[in-house]
Amino acid sequence: MIKPILLALSFLLAFTACQAQEKNKSTSKNTPVNTTETPNFLNLSDEEWAKRLKPEEYRVLRQHGTERPYTGEYDQHWEAGTYVCKGCGADLFTSNTKFDAGCGWPSFYEGIDKSKIKEVLDKSFGMTRVEVRCARCDGHLGHVFNDGPQPTGMRYCINSVSLGFVKK
Ligand SMILES: [Zn+2]
Repeated sequence: MIKPILLALSFLLAFTACQAQEKNKSTSKNTPVNTTETPNFLNLSDEEWAKRLKPEEYRVLRQHGTERPYTGEYDQHWEAGTYVCKGCGADLFTSNTKFDAGCGWPSFYEGIDKSKIKEVLDKSFGMTRVEVRCARCDGHLGHVFNDGPQPTGMRYCINSVSLGFVKK
């Protein structure tokens, strides 16, 4: 997956320096923590994402935005089921691991599968945090902190707008 992209990039660099610079600008400066390749990676252009998502979903998922706390659809949502990625439909979290962190965003102590969530070091706003993204579409979900409850001690703090819900 990476090789063709690198090839394409060097191609651009060789022929159109300007375009290559544009390409670099849009690439996140954040450093991946885990770089597991996802075989069915959903690679859409910004234009395609903008068509596919509602404006607020696009702002959060594709532009690393954050919904206002205590406003999200799933902050206080306790039905049994599966939370999926709003961008690509990948199963991300189950209601079994959801807890009330009181922070204003839906929180989970664990993801369904480690391979489905990509963790990326995020140094924006003068803080060092670990951003979580959907591994399949690279959509921004939220951040993970180590002040969650047992059995993992982790708190996945996720934007409702990045999620869909499938009732059990
Ligand atoms: Zn996704």
